[in-house]
Amino acid sequence: DFVTQSSKLGSERETRDRVLDALTIKTLNKLINTDRVVEIVEGCISSGKEANVYHCRAPADEQNGGSRRRIAVKVYATTANIFKSRQVYMQGWHNTNGVRAGREMIAQWATNEFNHLKRLQKAGIPCPEPIDHRDNVLVMSLLGSEDGTAYPRLLNANLDTTTADTEANEELRDHSEAAKWARLYTQLLCYMRRMYKVSRLVHGDLSEYNILYSPPSTASVDDSEDAGTLHIIDVSQSLEHDHPECLTMLRRDINNVNTFFRRKKVDFLNDSTIFEFVTVDEVPIEMEEMYAHIDSLYESRNPTAGMTAEERAMAEVEENEFRDKFIPRTLTEAYELESGGVEADRTAISHLLAKKDVEDMDDSGKELQDDSSESDGSEFGAPVHSGDEEG
Ligand code: ADP
Ligand code: MG
Repeated sequence: DFVTQSSKLGSERETRDRVLDALTIKTLNKLINTDRVVEIVEGCISSGKEANVYHCRAPADEQNGGSRRRIAVKVYATTANIFKSRQVYMQGWHNTNGVRAGREMIAQWATNEFNHLKRLQKAGIPCPEPIDHRDNVLVMSLLGSEDGTAYPRLLNANLDTTTADTEANEELRDHSEAAKWARLYTQLLCYMRRMYKVSRLVHGDLSEYNILYSPPSTASVDDSEDAGTLHIIDVSQSLEHDHPECLTMLRRDINNVNTFFRRKKVDFLNDSTIFEFVTVDEVPIEMEEMYAHIDSLYESRNPTAGMTAEERAMAEVEENEFRDKFIPRTLTEAYELESGGVEADRTAISHLLAKKDVEDMDDSGKELQDDSSESDGSEFGAPVHSGDEEG
């Protein structure tokens, strides 16, 4: 059989990878022959370290004039690498390195992504429609134009649809392009809020790579109000809103988004302002109302122009602190922190937390100093020295 044959061909690792590939082919065959959700594989849209995405066709739909719907089939890699890079999210799996457990873990990614896409869809967030999943394969609608071309990632989006033949036109074009980037920025903030508040998820890997861009319908090309639509993808690793790491991930997502739009010269809001916008209860959840709210955030934000140089420096320090706070530099770090893998870092973080408590919250500041004899309200600014950590 396949295993015996391939084991003669190469190293053990190579063999295992091939076996896994063979199982994936089996799965794909089942999706074609048993589940009948896929019929033709037309090409590969993307091939990455962790997944390949194929452009496929569903079987002919009699109810729809016999047309074959375009679909996207995402196959999660089953090679050893994925265990390393993704185990951050999956506690409990990393002790079992057997092929079987590994495949189950990866199947869990497909299941997660299917369920998360359902929740996004329900919240009215543009995303692929999840159709089916089996083992390490997810079937979803293809996000693309009529001719079947997949929409570009936000990274590659071209918002300039006009032709500038004169200098005046060029200026006009630049202006409308800038307006579109700004519009897409606020659109994305609204979807982030919806995702957190309605879907109850934090993306966890949000960036210009995991957002697709579809242009506005040709009828409204010159309307800067309609800058096109952003579609959220790649949500297999998204975290529940009450997951201990989710706010850390949210901060990182916000940072990624701001970094990208800053490069596009968008007048962006502070990370902390966005964090609040996404998470607070009081802000509405309807798109138009959220847009209006964001407008008001722009109007009411601290005008740095009116600040002294010192105040401005302070504001910048605070913002940087917010951005750095609890943000693990890598996912491995996040995982290790969570599972207690790196004790040293853990202590560093709890120190940070304790410090923040003292600075920010009266109550916990007092709590920390409960046993000390001089609790006269002067604890702010006093060093944390309760002694229970060292002793
Ligand atoms: P990963 O980043 O883990 O490889 P993604 O879900 O981000 O997996 O998919 C990889 C790429 O495939 C995306 O950047 C996008 O270009 C394309 N893609 C994914 N899903 C779809 C879809 N439903 N429709 C069109 N293109 C898609
Ligand atoms: Mg991706």
